[in-house]
Amino acid sequence: MNPDLQDLKAKALALHERLCAVYGCPIPYFHTLDPLSELISSLLSHRTRNADSGRAFKALRVRYADWRALMHAPTDEVEATIQGVTWPDQKAPRLQAVLHAIEERHGSLSLDFLKDMPVEEARAWLESIPGIGPKTSAAVLSFSVLRKAALPVDSHHHRVAQRTGLIPLSAAVGPSHAALAALLPEEWDAQQVYDHHEVMMLHGQRCCFFKNPACHRCAVLDLCPTGQGRVEGRRVSPVRPDAVPDDLRSSRSRER
Ligand code: SF4
Repeated sequence: MNPDLQDLKAKALALHERLCAVYGCPIPYFHTLDPLSELISSLLSHRTRNADSGRAFKALRVRYADWRALMHAPTDEVEATIQGVTWPDQKAPRLQAVLHAIEERHGSLSLDFLKDMPVEEARAWLESIPGIGPKTSAAVLSFSVLRKAALPVDSHHHRVAQRTGLIPLSAAVGPSHAALAALLPEEWDAQQVYDHHEVMMLHGQRCCFFKNPACHRCAVLDLCPTGQGRVEGRRVSPVRPDAVPDDLRSSRSRER
């Protein structure tokens, strides 16, 4: 194996173990949605606070008897129903277009058939539909009741991966999905892959902030070149997981 890749894999595993000790693995799944519903939830959540996209998802459920009714509804009505999300004027027609594409390509309005596909094949099928990118395809496979071993990368996860050196600082979110998934042990099951995403995301939300990351109390400071550069000369020691303040720990999963 390429020695650089071997080092990166070892670092990914070390980060996982350290952050699992902080945030508590296994982390409970936060949804029990069928894959088509998870897709709609995921499309609503793009660049939107979880509380707002959750409200919009519930509003769609109340307004439409099923996703077929949403597909055939007047687009301006759908737009009004999801008003709380970012860019409702773009998301409403996109939701309907994605539903039409699924029915055209699969012959029915369901994604349950993905259960029998290998992860990469299922992701490719989803991503062949305009409007579905790697984060959404991974979310559908991982967060829905399909519970497959697919790794989503959100902005928090991406930031922690960049700063700890798992991916270059210049790596964009899209291509980072494949690069980060390649660092995880092949034998990991869906729960372990999900845990990895969740602990990286939680660390970005609770410690490795976009502005002013809290490196002085970070449990992975000794693994992080960015943090070491920031605290250089300040004699900051790595924090043991059992010394992380209680308010950082997770008894629940994500902040939704
Ligand atoms: S040391 Fe700082 S930059 Fe590195 S992961 Fe921790 S909080 Fe983020």
